Amino acid sequence: MNIIISHDVDHLYTCEHWRKDLIMEKHLVRSGLQVLRGDINTRVFLYRVASVFQHRYCRIPEIMEFDAKHQIPSTFFFGMGNTLGMSYTQEQALPWIQKVREAGFYAGVHAADITSAESIQKEHNDFKRICPNYTFGTRVHYVRYDDITLQRLATAGYLYDTTEFSKETFSLKQPYQIIASNGNRMWEFPLHLMDSYVLEKDVKNAIQKVSSLLRQAEQSGSLFFTFLFHDVYFNEKTYPEWIAFYKWFVSACEEAGHHFISYHQAIKMLEDAQRAAERIHQQSI
Ligand SMILES: [Zn+2]
Repeated sequence: MNIIISHDVDHLYTCEHWRKDLIMEKHLVRSGLQVLRGDINTRVFLYRVASVFQHRYCRIPEIMEFDAKHQIPSTFFFGMGNTLGMSYTQEQALPWIQKVREAGFYAGVHAADITSAESIQKEHNDFKRICPNYTFGTRVHYVRYDDITLQRLATAGYLYDTTEFSKETFSLKQPYQIIASNGNRMWEFPLHLMDSYVLEKDVKNAIQKVSSLLRQAEQSGSLFFTFLFHDVYFNEKTYPEWIAFYKWFVSACEEAGHHFISYHQAIKMLEDAQRAAERIHQQSI
């Protein structure tokens, strides 16, 4: 099976949130409640309090180092706009996009404003300006989409999207193509696994659930499995269980002999197969 890993970059620095949103305040309140309930220990709680006073909040360098060691060609989605706690500017994102690409990883757009075709097009064009001569995909910030959103993303010119996600049950829906009214073709890769939907409490429980999901995917002959892990949780001090889950997932895939590939590689496989099928079809006429 081919495993595609991506990372939503929701935050870069703590200061981008000051007087702009309540992300840091909410982070402290949530962590306070978690320590009171016994979901996290005091040491983790204190590290989380300390993290609010540090400059960098993202964990891009750390997760890139890990992914590189495990030959995972992951994709990082960067916001070109601000909404729902994503508050950094394009200027702040630019050097990180360059770092990710220079290190051999992939970058795409973490779509923010999906209220109109124009706003979707603007974010696409802004990224295109930053990364000319580069094909890229997108993932909408938070699980917000409908058929019109996907059509608009295709119209805007994205190569692929990986927003579709089933919140209630695990779904192993495989990639399919969306053809926009202007003729653009976009691959939709439904997302199969998102960190925050399995990890809220107990890592052992999450490992059990995801082990059986991976088995189910193998048995059903799924060609692709998509997993989103937010880089901010790749932190031994503040999210020890989350980082442990990520490392477990990678080693479980390695042990099972799965391949880590990028969306770009997956699209090449899908389009090669499409062309081969067309050739066979023409020969049989
Ligand atoms: Zn996000």
